[in-house]
Amino acid sequence: MIEFNYKALPWNIVFGVGSLHTLPNELDKLGKLRALILTTPNQAEQGRELAELLGDRAVGLFDQAAMHVPVATLEAATKICYSLKADCTVALGGGSTIGLGKALAVKEGLDNIVIPTSYAGSEMTDIWAVTEAERKVTARDHAAVPTLTLYDPHLTLTLPPEFAAASGLNAMAQAVVNVATDRPNPIISSLAVDGIRALAASLPIIMKDPQNIEARSQALYGASMAGGALGTGVTSLHHRLCHTLGGMFNTPHAETHAILLAHSVAYNAAATSDGTARVADALGVDDAAQGIYQLAQKLGVPVSLKEIGILEADLDKAVAVTLENPLSNPEPVTPKRLRQLLDNAWRGNSPQAIKA
Ligand code: NAD
Repeated sequence: MIEFNYKALPWNIVFGVGSLHTLPNELDKLGKLRALILTTPNQAEQGRELAELLGDRAVGLFDQAAMHVPVATLEAATKICYSLKADCTVALGGGSTIGLGKALAVKEGLDNIVIPTSYAGSEMTDIWAVTEAERKVTARDHAAVPTLTLYDPHLTLTLPPEFAAASGLNAMAQAVVNVATDRPNPIISSLAVDGIRALAASLPIIMKDPQNIEARSQALYGASMAGGALGTGVTSLHHRLCHTLGGMFNTPHAETHAILLAHSVAYNAAATSDGTARVADALGVDDAAQGIYQLAQKLGVPVSLKEIGILEADLDKAVAVTLENPLSNPEPVTPKRLRQLLDNAWRGNSPQAIKA
């Protein structure tokens, strides 16, 4: 029997190579006259080029966006918004920059226009976050959904292939947890399966031929669909773990997802057999967890938590913090089983089911 609930998010999307040049017109249509551009320090130059494109519509550039939206960064950006009387933000960048735009939208009611340049997929979700004292607090709020998302695959050509691979697996995680679930939703699963297919097909091409605009376009599309699945779907153990490790140890977000995804899928496989089989089918493999692990190896991303700086001695603390709050997950999560999962991921072992 089919049973499901579905609540759409108010997505407003422009997707296409060269679409960046439509932004002045899009801002005019939205009646936005004073945009504050947001970037990380790495993308400040792209931010300045965007300011030139926007002309008088841009009132400034805040180029200090940082991973996981540190509260001090949010406060600094808020002050600049007020001092420049910005009527919207234009976040150009990956999930860190988009996260800052989302936090400003929720906290200050500012319209947020978003130009994603990585595959984080955050622009398609209503999830926003802020990090204070090593704890990342996330919440869902419709106010976080961008007023407009403009995807121009041309802007992703500068995303280094090794980061594109990790970022693409971060996107894939958003799709996978919404197919390999005990509560499948047909609309969300369709988005997710399409996203998994597009990412699995395009990421290996990008590794070999980073300037391949067709593959870059497909990867950005896949990330958008995967983000859409997360935005209207669920999170479970996988996302809780990634956010816990990110908040506690400042691990790189995309790589943390890339390492843990295969292990999370193996952990939940028994409770999600139909969905896990759909993931395997979308990947073109027999076993979803092994397929993800092998894809990560093929793409050359880190496959162990130790490679990204986590110490074995940190794992017990990670288990305790992960389980501090109630967690919804297809398989029951106990400290012992979670410790085993983290141990496998820390060593970079092949993913395996963990006995109750
Ligand atoms: P990021 O935004 O930190 O980007 C990493 C680096 O790559 C940055 O220096 C960035 O400026 C640079 N970069 C991005 N695109 C580039 C390009 N095209 N060319 C050159 N450099 C480029 O990393 P991320 O993985 O995209 O985002 C991670 C953050 O996003 C985390 O804080 C994570 O929690 C958040 N996130 C949130 C959601 C959500 O739904 N709220 C979803 C996914 C990720």
